[in-house]
Amino acid sequence: MELWSTGIHIYDAYKKEYFQLWAMLFCTINDFPAYGNLSAYSMKGKKACPICEENTHSIWLTNCKKLAFMGHRRELAKNHPYCKNSDLFDGTIEDRKLPPPLDEETTLSKAANINVVLGKKGFGPPKGIWKKKSIFWKLPYWKHLRVRHCLDVMHIEKNVCESLIGLLLNIPGKTKDGIKVRRDMELMNIKLELQPEDIDGRSTKFLPPACYTMLKVEKTKFCQCLHGIKVPSANIRKLVSMKDLKLLGMKSHDCHVLMTQMIPIAIRGILPNRIRHTITKLCLFFNIIHSKVIDPDVLDEYQRDIILTLCKLEMYFPPSFFDVMVHLVSHIVGEIKACGPVFLRYMYPFERYMGILKGYVRNLNRPEGSIVEGYASEEVIEFCTNYMDEFKSVWIPQSRHEGRLSGQGTLGCKSGNSNVADYQEVHFNVLQHTTSIDLYIQEHMSLLRQQNRKRVQNGWQNNIKKLFQNG
Ligand SMILES: [Zn+2]
Repeated sequence: MELWSTGIHIYDAYKKEYFQLWAMLFCTINDFPAYGNLSAYSMKGKKACPICEENTHSIWLTNCKKLAFMGHRRELAKNHPYCKNSDLFDGTIEDRKLPPPLDEETTLSKAANINVVLGKKGFGPPKGIWKKKSIFWKLPYWKHLRVRHCLDVMHIEKNVCESLIGLLLNIPGKTKDGIKVRRDMELMNIKLELQPEDIDGRSTKFLPPACYTMLKVEKTKFCQCLHGIKVPSANIRKLVSMKDLKLLGMKSHDCHVLMTQMIPIAIRGILPNRIRHTITKLCLFFNIIHSKVIDPDVLDEYQRDIILTLCKLEMYFPPSFFDVMVHLVSHIVGEIKACGPVFLRYMYPFERYMGILKGYVRNLNRPEGSIVEGYASEEVIEFCTNYMDEFKSVWIPQSRHEGRLSGQGTLGCKSGNSNVADYQEVHFNVLQHTTSIDLYIQEHMSLLRQQNRKRVQNGWQNNIKKLFQNG
């Protein structure tokens, strides 16, 4: 609040003068449970989605004893054939209107009147979806922000990846398929061909294979493909257990690589076409949203695509697959519209640094103290070694840039003489890939079209080349 209202007096070492520094809290970013703590929204129960709030659509699965967040058909066009098809989805015909987006005044009015005094009887958190008035509401600009708390795409991607792989490989304990969900499907009166069947003389039931069930041969093929991949970015091979045909110990970055690159390759030639295409579409969506440059004009198309993909997944996968994490995928594009590309809000650097800090822990009873002590001693020793140039330090991590920045780099450099034609070719290539040139090319093309239609189609590139080369 101080940084917003009065600012602080601070010294600029470059200009060698004092100036007033102001700052604002643009948004917070946490994993899902911490999102709940900071925003004071209840992330449990029927209305678990903090973006849909009251309009969250959920179904209670009696046998699984959990909630499924389906109902993405609501966001399709009204006359879409999926809306009238009840058997393939959650057993209902979709005729609801898409609720209007919630405005900040409504949210504030709901949260403003909650007065929670910790430790006092009768003043505990209320039963509704809002638990308290978050301290952030004291910031004067907070109610005007379109996105106050960002979704953590890294964790969403990890959860979706784990659910998907658990389901496809039918990993015990991880799979979302099983007798309970099959019974729930029976209760919902959907996909009746998948009902558990009795086996003569046995107490266990037979679960008919669904469209996403992989045969052992297919599982082996899938695991073999992942086991054989050699890439510098992630060691996927070590995650694959060929003996049990499952993936173990996936970290966030492994899930990121799997989701964006590997799964579409690994499922080639296995599973029915429609399932494979839908999974590939989901992976493609994750691949696209991680790109550094996103055209705002195509975001609406991405949103339509991901909703359609989620609807198709609803059609093929069991209801238990749709936990709140899968539902949150439908809100990612909305946040990109408001806050820019996803990579600007990554959790990766923080998680990585937390890994370094955790490395300092020696006494598990006092982790914070260990971290402080370890960090401080390393800092002090590093500082001291600056004064001891002639000694070689031991056990102190050395910066990989140390000693490499002075002088002129020659590694990997090739020198040669180029003629004018080569130079112009390179120059043209660079120009061709520069977005700011697009406008001029379009203008030039329309001019050429007016002059001679046939010649343009045959050699438009040569025409532009000449134009650029002539200046
Ligand atoms: Zn939602």
